[in-house]
Amino acid sequence: MISPKVKAEIGIIGGSGLYDPGIIKDAQEVKVYTPYGEPSDYIIVGKVEGRSVAFLPRHGRGHRIPPHKINYRANIWAMKELGVKFLISVSAVGSLRLDYKPGDFVVPDQFIDMTKKRDYTFFDGPVVAHVSMAEPFCESLRKVIISASKDLNITTHDRGTYICIEGPRFSTRAESRVWKEVFKADIIGMTLVPEVNLACEAQLCYATIAMVTDYDVFAEIPVTAEEVTRVMAENTEKVKRLLYEVIKRLPEKPEEGLCSCCRSLETALV
Ligand SMILES: [Zn+2]
Repeated sequence: MISPKVKAEIGIIGGSGLYDPGIIKDAQEVKVYTPYGEPSDYIIVGKVEGRSVAFLPRHGRGHRIPPHKINYRANIWAMKELGVKFLISVSAVGSLRLDYKPGDFVVPDQFIDMTKKRDYTFFDGPVVAHVSMAEPFCESLRKVIISASKDLNITTHDRGTYICIEGPRFSTRAESRVWKEVFKADIIGMTLVPEVNLACEAQLCYATIAMVTDYDVFAEIPVTAEEVTRVMAENTEKVKRLLYEVIKRLPEKPEEGLCSCCRSLETALV
């Protein structure tokens, strides 16, 4: 399919380990063209419990695209084009605190941007916008994710600061200690920015399910590739169950009074 005649109200962007949520019925692959070029892959559009859902693997199928080369603008534009209102982002992260353990989930409420050279905005001029990032995630969507994961007995931390680094390399031990001890960040990854702020510019309700894979290098706990692979596989199974439950519970519209994502441009345009 070439242009999105199909529509979806709920979007999912999957990270490492999640290339197909396996829960979408009557799925079709949709290619969406955007003014910013191609999204990471075809978008899978179909139904989950009667709700229309669009899924895009952030790194492309087969994990072809590294974090710093992802066309974030095309990905978010494509979701908006499909009619998405709620956008759930899934990503694998490292933990910067011992009580956020491998296998735990985190629904971050803040982020710190340490990326260096990405395309951060849809507003490159002549229209200029400065969106507020004081509360960067949708509280309405966060609430549904947190309550669904509690009911499924998935260990989930309902707050956390996600520090986004440029990558593709991991942090040095000195950097890792700075993120933890000076910046007080809780989890670390490479893909949240600029996805989160572009979603805001697109006036989408956006939240992240961050799945802890291992401890970052501050901990000096040696991990084997086998352990990481095992945890990632378990996380992937859990997140599929969680996504199914979240989609089932999502209201038609964001809960009144919890967020103003769909009006984020009202005070942002210069
Ligand atoms: Zn919202």
